[in-house]
Amino acid sequence: PGMARKFVVGGNWKMNGNKKQIDEILGFLKTGPLNADTEVIVGVPAVYLDYVKCNAPPNVEVAAQNCYKAEKGAFTGEISPMMLKDIGVCWVILGHSERRQIFGESDELIAEKVAFALENGLKVIACIGETLNEREAGKTEEVVFRQTQAIADKIKDWTNVVIAYEPVWAIGTGKTATPEQAQDVHKALRCYISEKISPNVAESVRIQYGGSVTAANCKDLGAKPDIDGFLVGGASLKPEFVQIVNARQ
Ligand code: PGA
Repeated sequence: PGMARKFVVGGNWKMNGNKKQIDEILGFLKTGPLNADTEVIVGVPAVYLDYVKCNAPPNVEVAAQNCYKAEKGAFTGEISPMMLKDIGVCWVILGHSERRQIFGESDELIAEKVAFALENGLKVIACIGETLNEREAGKTEEVVFRQTQAIADKIKDWTNVVIAYEPVWAIGTGKTATPEQAQDVHKALRCYISEKISPNVAESVRIQYGGSVTAANCKDLGAKPDIDGFLVGGASLKPEFVQIVNARQ
């Protein structure tokens, strides 16, 4: 499945961790062993990015959980792609549903951030996904297509983009999408991308699944042909993250 697409597993620590806990996480990442065929990225709170960048094993990449769409200036509380690159951080997670819902980030703002991050040499995990209401109203595809199109309107090159499909009802709830539910959306999204963006992008872009991924469910999800990895919240703070990284083994 997804032969040409390298499996990519991200850990989204969200607003969790302190130095002691982070040392424990870095410990199990170092011990691994992590499948060399999987790209591994940890999404770290901004204040710890430099620490994790300096102390993570070389086979683990580091992502910020947000950044702004300007180089510098009067944007109190924000960080820029240039600052991330300055400390050697190459990835950023953008458009997470918590950014959308709690902090009111729109499709358009997220698309602008994605474009600015890419223009400035970062790689982006761009998150999309429907709420429970939207799913129950039969709007899942409409929503994920709209969120993807907003980004497509602002970028041309998808080489450095990973899409994370994260149904909001599955995030932090223990209600994982079934492998079939996730595969259906991933496949529909790939068809949409093929039609509206290009067949090449559709074939090459990696689509992660996120939402209550655990060591127990990751193998079945990872066996689906259009699921190219995971974005993992709660379980990324625990040793079982290693098993999730190795889901395809
Ligand atoms: P969860 O979070 O794995 O804790 O459900 C996933 C995410 O929000 O990326």
